[in-house]
Amino acid sequence: MKINIDLSACTGHGRCYALAPDVFTADDQGHAELIDPSGAVADDLVDQAHSAIANCPEQAITVAN
Ligand code: SF4
Repeated sequence: MKINIDLSACTGHGRCYALAPDVFTADDQGHAELIDPSGAVADDLVDQAHSAIANCPEQAITVAN
């Protein structure tokens, strides 16, 4: 699985890094960052990633094709 963050949509609610702390972290302004910049999500973190996708209020996180 691979994911993207649309940083133009991210407003820094922090749901993603609260729900998926092994996938996302925050920059110094609270916006989301991918821990793995490639966007690759390890199999054991896919559930975390889906939870973040489902709970981002801005729909800023998407699955990459
Ligand atoms: S939940 Fe969405 S809006 Fe909030 S920090 Fe994460 S990507 Fe940004």
